[in-house]
Amino acid sequence: MTYETDVYRIICREEDTDALFCPLATQAKRLALLFGISRLPSDCKIRIDILGQKPFEREKGLHFGKSAGPEIVAFSTEHVCAMSYRAVRGRYTPEEYRRVILHEFVHVLQWITTRIPPDQNIWLYEAAACYLAGQTADISHMEHTVPWDMVRQNFYATPECYSIAYHLGTALLSGCVPGEAAIRCSDVPHCEAVCAEAYASLFK
Ligand SMILES: [Zn+2]
Repeated sequence: MTYETDVYRIICREEDTDALFCPLATQAKRLALLFGISRLPSDCKIRIDILGQKPFEREKGLHFGKSAGPEIVAFSTEHVCAMSYRAVRGRYTPEEYRRVILHEFVHVLQWITTRIPPDQNIWLYEAAACYLAGQTADISHMEHTVPWDMVRQNFYATPECYSIAYHLGTALLSGCVPGEAAIRCSDVPHCEAVCAEAYASLFK
């Protein structure tokens, strides 16, 4: 089954239902527009590959090597690769599953529009992706164990890094602070100042 627009092509090799992918298609279109993308040439459309469990594990192994944990059910390169909902439905509601895919879709949009290697400013990429994908986080129980510099320099090693990212994304994108800059990674010093302050306010 394939869902195709001017921007992306969702290729679903498992029998996941329309009810799952129609909202995904709408939300992906809205996100692409946010990045200023309303149309891509046919051979450059963003591919969202939905694979069965075994083919997905194979792709994941090729991408991450042996380090890939079982919690990873989607990842992105120049396209999105995700495990079918059928294979993860015990762990995710349909809405949560769509958000995981949208998060990876945002990473592809970030790469297309900025061309900044993803290993730079990871905190900024992840903050925007978590917020724009509509992922939420409970931060009430968090303890301040890690200084901001570590979050900035070694994001993935930070405990609860995605909860932190969501909080930073909210600070960057929900108010009058420069949402446009955060989306385009165009004013990293300013975004960092906003995030450092938002991070500090988490533990007040
Ligand atoms: Zn991410």
